[in-house]
Order: sequence, then C-alpha cells, then structure tokens
Amino acid sequence: MLQLSYQSPQVTAVPVQRAAAREDQDGPWHTEAVCRRDEAGLFFAPSKEPTAARLSREEAAKRVCARCPVLVQCREHALLQPEPYGVWGGLTAAERRVVLARRRRQDIELKKAQSAA
Ligand code: SF4
Repeated sequence: MLQLSYQSPQVTAVPVQRAAAREDQDGPWHTEAVCRRDEAGLFFAPSKEPTAARLSREEAAKRVCARCPVLVQCREHALLQPEPYGVWGGLTAAERRVVLARRRRQDIELKKAQSAA
C-alpha cells in the first residue's frame, strides 16, 4: 500500500484508495491520471497542515489537474462517491461540497417545476 507524505516529494503513484475506487466504479480511466506520474502527496493534506501551506499545496495540485486528460471523469467520480478528502478533478473537498449543494438545489427546483406543470 502506498503511503503518502507531503514531506516526500518523490511519491509518483496514485494513492491506493484512489486507484481502487476508480477501477471499481468508473473503469480504467485512472490509468490516464497525470497524478500517477506527479507528486501524489500534493493531493491530500498531512495532519496539522497550516492554512498557508494547505492553500499553496492545493493550488499546486490544481495545476497538475489542469493538464490532466481525465479531469472530468475524476471530478464526477469524486462528486458521486462523494470523496470527502483531497483534491480531485481540480476541486478541493470544500469546493466539491459547494458543487454538490448547488446540484441538490437545482434538483429540488427542477422537481418543483415538474410538479407544478
Ligand atoms: S484530475 Fe487531478 S486528481 Fe484527478 S486524476 Fe487528474 S491529476 Fe489526478
């Protein structure tokens, strides 16, 4: 099992929990993940990470995601699970919560509109 550490910039593989979920739920799209070749330690916070370091790490992770050919698949996977931690598909956990809340509101409004018609 791959152990991730923010202190270890030599990590070059996707975290085990990511790879397993991707294979099981969404097919082999994770094999195209850019983060398999980059510093996977960027994507998950070490314990007690200071805010400035977290923001810097998350921005670095998002830059990796921005050049990833499976960004959309990764993001949807993380939203559907939902994945509670880490940067997935260029979104932090907090950003994914916002997207999910927006989708829930849109679903409610759509159902209201359908029942009123
Ligand atoms: S979008 Fe980001 S987290 Fe997702 S597979 Fe690509 S590089 Fe990894």
